[in-house]
Amino acid sequence: MNKKILVTQSSMPPLDEYLELIKDIWNTRWLTNMGKYHKEFQAKLKEYLDTENIELFTNGHMALELSLQAMNFQRGRTEVITTPFTFASTTHAIIRNGLTPVFCDINPVDFTIDVTKIEELITDKTCAIMPVHVYGNVCNVDEIERIAKKYELKTIYDSAHTFGVRYKGVSTANFGDLSIFSFHATKVFHTIEGGAACFHDTKIGRKLYHLKNFGITGPETVDGIGANAKMNEFCAAMGICNLRHVDENISKRKLVYERYIDNFSNVDGLQLNKFSKDITPNYAYFPVIFDEKIFGSSRNEVFEQLAKNDIHVRKYFYPLTNSFECFHGMFDVSETPIALHISNRVLTLPIYSELSLDDVDRICEILLTCKK
Ligand SMILES: *Cc1c(COP(=O)(O)O)cnc(C)c1O
Repeated sequence: MNKKILVTQSSMPPLDEYLELIKDIWNTRWLTNMGKYHKEFQAKLKEYLDTENIELFTNGHMALELSLQAMNFQRGRTEVITTPFTFASTTHAIIRNGLTPVFCDINPVDFTIDVTKIEELITDKTCAIMPVHVYGNVCNVDEIERIAKKYELKTIYDSAHTFGVRYKGVSTANFGDLSIFSFHATKVFHTIEGGAACFHDTKIGRKLYHLKNFGITGPETVDGIGANAKMNEFCAAMGICNLRHVDENISKRKLVYERYIDNFSNVDGLQLNKFSKDITPNYAYFPVIFDEKIFGSSRNEVFEQLAKNDIHVRKYFYPLTNSFECFHGMFDVSETPIALHISNRVLTLPIYSELSLDDVDRICEILLTCKK
């Protein structure tokens, strides 16, 4: 029986490295509330992500949700232009702030927001654009910046997939007014659970610092309706350890990525994710779009065939966020036809640093038994 393969596997630092840091937490009994590892990790990340300002959070979602709150949009400016081809978090962060997502379609090449369709969605209620750097592809940041300037909109990037990714040499932490990252266990780089916001305006930074701690600004003052979203010391210590190994992990992911590309290069009916020359990738995901008419099997048939062989891939992103049950009747998926098309045909295949090339070959072999 072949071993079970999941879509991802968390990278772990050598246990000794982690224990070494954890010992200190035992000695000091400082477990959370912006302790020494929080400060150290923040400084190291600033350097790695090549950014001026960074605030750490308990997860990527709270970074996104509190960042929107920190923007303090004018009364009546309630619409945020975004895409439905994303994780639940992006759309939820908007709605949980009492704002309204206005869904823009994606482009069929790199699955990020279709910048030619943004302007027609802008109204006098629009306050921000919240694009997503899907699968580690970088949005058309130049055009988004032009539009945001012209209409005086804020730009908040969901950069959860682009840890360490650069576009024309610039770290994705630096685009827009603010970019958030997720350090969830399943991401390229993780702190078990964790996240960060990178931004230019230090006033936003002060707000975020308070908002992640209930809005408390002094021993006897609370001047914001904040949440509890602080990164604890155990997670910060994990981040410090994982950061030492992240470049090596990304190089191993690159080998997996290239092996898939080699194995699929002559197969008709598969659309692969090729990175633009301007991007230094992190190989976060390996999406494949199936064209059933040419490939001979549907996405769902391939999914089942792999599952039968104990290979568990994901239909990521399916369903679209604008078709979630919790939003029943609120949105119309037919307004984002390309996102719908891709969402119905995509699978993301296993990719992680410890995945062997033999396992990649086996996954490809089984997948190609579906080719008719
Ligand atoms: C993972 C993810 C998030 C949320 O991050 P968490 O750290 O899990 O809260 C947000 N957006 C996207 C696109 C993600 O993939």
